[in-house]
Amino acid sequence: MYIEGQWITAVESKTFAVTNPANGQHIGDVPDGNREDAKKAIFAADKAFRGWAGLTAYERSAFLYKAWEIMSARKKELAEIMTREQGKPLKASMGEVQYGADFLLWYAEEAKRVYGKIIPAPRKDQRFMVLQQPVGVVAAITPWNYPMSMITRKVAPALAAGCTMVLKPAESTPLCAMEIFKILDEAGIPPGVVNLITTRDPKPIGDEFLANPAVKKLAFTGSTGVGKFLAQGAAAQMKRISLELGGHAPFIVFEDADPIHAAKGAALVKFLNTGQACISPNRIFVHRSIVDPFVSELAARVSRMQAGSGFDKDTQIGPLINAAALEKVQRQVVNAQELGATVVCGGKRLTENQLDLGYFFSATVLRDVTPEMEIYREETFGPIAPVIVFDSEEQVLEMANDTTYGLASYVYTRDISRAMRMFEGLRFGIVGINDINPTAAAAPFGGMKESGLGREGGQEGIAEYLETKLGGFSI
Ligand code: ADP
Repeated sequence: MYIEGQWITAVESKTFAVTNPANGQHIGDVPDGNREDAKKAIFAADKAFRGWAGLTAYERSAFLYKAWEIMSARKKELAEIMTREQGKPLKASMGEVQYGADFLLWYAEEAKRVYGKIIPAPRKDQRFMVLQQPVGVVAAITPWNYPMSMITRKVAPALAAGCTMVLKPAESTPLCAMEIFKILDEAGIPPGVVNLITTRDPKPIGDEFLANPAVKKLAFTGSTGVGKFLAQGAAAQMKRISLELGGHAPFIVFEDADPIHAAKGAALVKFLNTGQACISPNRIFVHRSIVDPFVSELAARVSRMQAGSGFDKDTQIGPLINAAALEKVQRQVVNAQELGATVVCGGKRLTENQLDLGYFFSATVLRDVTPEMEIYREETFGPIAPVIVFDSEEQVLEMANDTTYGLASYVYTRDISRAMRMFEGLRFGIVGINDINPTAAAAPFGGMKESGLGREGGQEGIAEYLETKLGGFSI
């Protein structure tokens, strides 16, 4: 673990094993921290806060810029570690390292643009001044599906704003987190400004984050259930929270769209990271008049996808992260079939060529999916593309919005008026119009409804780590 600028063991000296989800191989051991370790890390972050917040924005920016340089230079090495620990194909890991580094550069720049303002006051003898100040010590919790970029997406804006941080990564991907912290260390960031706690059991650490009054803000990416638990806990001390939670993205293909082009888009975005993304399309709505050409193109593309080790250059489908993830997709497919859906391709666990050593499920297309099925309501987080037929714009907008989630959504249409109506009508924080990758470090990412609170990336991302202070001056 990395506390106050030192690489140290856990207080109890325990460790836990990290394995490769593609073949079950043991790839490392990391410290298994407990609540005492979390206390130590928070103490260090609290001690460092005043000094870090007191630097000029230019000084903080320079550290982030340096970290960006180191991360960019190490792209290939980092990608290999990610593929080994998380399973995604090497090319996708390279893409994620780049995306992760983008946040360091973007917030190195934004650090210098935290402006205040002067407001005209109602009294002649009065002046109003608004100041933006760092929130304080931030506790961050990150997931395993994007094990590097979800860290820099929090660390970079927090540090740019003048906050210090304690981070707890997911128990499946601590090695990726350690690599990011090696970079922050090499960039010369002062001791205590960023601290890393690894653990097999997140609950006691989360409890300390909630209970410790030195922690002023919680930044979390993960499941909606854990997000709600943390939000409730944070309420006791009214800690600030940013939550990036689950999604249930609709992907809508209108009758005026090219079904072949849309199917290509669906095949590309649905199977990214083996469907283990909160912005992964979970319900593919296709107009009745074009459902046949759409499904046949989608199935043709999907059945060509190869599953295997991310180090094999032909692999498009990596393993799922663990046995529970595999069971969930199996259950959703069986449930959909029982209720009348058709498996067009895939639909089963892959076991040949030693794939049974990992958690592989075949890339799957389901058609005739209906609202009674589990897959229609529940986030899948796996390589299943469920196709649902619709008849009218009004009907599909209602169906798309009929979910407790509100993160990403996608629309294919060539009608500009319809595109605008959908952009305005969809209750989702992100709407991709004929665009399957509506994300970038410069763009605000986040959800409505039970998909979360707050935004990461963009100008909005740094605002999450700032408090607004008003000064009223009588002169
Ligand atoms: P997933 O199902 O995708 O693993 P989780 O929400 O369980 O999603 O995990 C996301 C992150 O939340 C991980 O870092 C995990 O360790 C952490 N986490 C899970 N439960 C808790 C908890 N009770 N307190 C704090 N962190 C938790």
